[in-house]
Amino acid sequence: MPVRQHYQHEVVEGQKVGRMNMGINTQFIVYRIGDTVIDSGPSNQWKHVYPFLDQAPVKQLLLTHHHEDHSGNAQRIAERFKLTPKAPSLAQEKLANGYPTPLIQKMVWGSPRPVKTETLQDTEYLSDGSPIKPIHTPGHAKDLTCFLLPNQGYFFSGDLYIAKTIKLLRIDEDLPQLINSLKKAIALDFETLFCPHGGIIKDGRQALQGKLNNILKLCAQAQELTQKGWDDEEITLHLLGPEDMVTKMSFGNLSRFNLITQCGLVEL
Ligand SMILES: [Zn+2]
Repeated sequence: MPVRQHYQHEVVEGQKVGRMNMGINTQFIVYRIGDTVIDSGPSNQWKHVYPFLDQAPVKQLLLTHHHEDHSGNAQRIAERFKLTPKAPSLAQEKLANGYPTPLIQKMVWGSPRPVKTETLQDTEYLSDGSPIKPIHTPGHAKDLTCFLLPNQGYFFSGDLYIAKTIKLLRIDEDLPQLINSLKKAIALDFETLFCPHGGIIKDGRQALQGKLNNILKLCAQAQELTQKGWDDEEITLHLLGPEDMVTKMSFGNLSRFNLITQCGLVEL
């Protein structure tokens, strides 16, 4: 069943789209603050994204990272609203040239569409002149960049948050980096977190702290079992249970095993 839902928090509006209603990892919320849009939504949801954007002028599109659920409509938004999207420098080559994605991601999001971007500056601005600070938060992806709006107390978290508990990790995710990025974000001054998968969270820093605590707890449990001589497969099954369809369909790109393996790399 497809997903549609409208969000409003003060000056921020959001439109949730998604081909399937199978939990937060198959849903995406495109947020806008007036004429500034944060992330473009997946390409297979364009017909639900553009009516939301057409409701008022769009002057700029800021991308948090290259993943296709965030950038899939950037090229169409650029064309429709005659703008050049802005993206982290580390994302620009992939965005310009495209990149392969696993079949399961093609089914859920559609394919990425190549798009030319400008590099995000140290400070970007809303059209009322208030600042937007890009915050580099690698881990989930090397290029992941969140957006802090200090005047409003807003934090657009890209894929830094997603959920309070993680059970799976992509093979290219870096858990120690993710932990550092969570700490960096928690130290910032903001209240409301805007997650494109999980929605609007009023106490955003507490939510990020909760996620960090859960990861550190899992790392401690995994490392204790390693010291007792368990291997990573045994630890995965014991702490997180068996792998599911997502892991099979992604050919191991997303798995519990990836998460447990990286727990051993975290210094506690
Ligand atoms: Zn992502």
